[in-house]
Amino acid sequence: MKYPKIRELKEAIVSLLTPAYTSKFPAEPHVPFEKFRGKPSVDDENCVGCETCANVCPSHAITFTDDKEKGIRTIIRDYGKCIFCGQCEEHCITKKGVILSDKIYDMAVFDRSKSIEYQEKELLICQSCNAIITTREHLHFMHRKLGPKAFSSILNLNILNQKLRLAEGQDVSVEIKDGLKRKDMFNIICPNCLRVILVKYLSKGV
Ligand code: SF4
Ligand code: SF4
Repeated sequence: MKYPKIRELKEAIVSLLTPAYTSKFPAEPHVPFEKFRGKPSVDDENCVGCETCANVCPSHAITFTDDKEKGIRTIIRDYGKCIFCGQCEEHCITKKGVILSDKIYDMAVFDRSKSIEYQEKELLICQSCNAIITTREHLHFMHRKLGPKAFSSILNLNILNQKLRLAEGQDVSVEIKDGLKRKDMFNIICPNCLRVILVKYLSKGV
């Protein structure tokens, strides 16, 4: 019994004289190691609201709600549910929309609602069937990626017309009623409605 007591005493003295291995958080901010994955940090300028990160997030920390009335998509990021897996960063289509920061690491909050972030993006909604096409920024991003090839799509051409104000005077908020006509292919319509027009009119050479 004598020797174990001496060993315990030695360990107590050594630990008294050795600096602590643990950090003093929250008294002092935690400094993570280099390349350590911290809180996902969103760059709204480079996020196009495409939904990809929500689809790959394993803990459902990222969700979306679409309000057709207001034409707004709200992206909700609840970092209280985040497990820092990095899937959102890895699969982000712009590669810059969200990055796991090694600087922002202090996420301790008393009120859980404070760990939730919101973003809003304008939706593109079909003027005929009211289906959600995507966000306007997502379509512009695809234009930039595809270059001139983007204009093989009539929807892309119509969006570009709006952007360049070539379609001035055309009210794109008007709902298409009384069935799709040939001229409606120059409105903002979803691929399903465009297909209906193409089958109905163009395939017959009308
Ligand atoms: S790091 Fe992982 S868990 Fe956290 S928001 Fe991104 S995908 Fe979701
Ligand atoms: S994948 Fe990237 S661009 Fe798309 S919504 Fe997420 S952060 Fe934004």
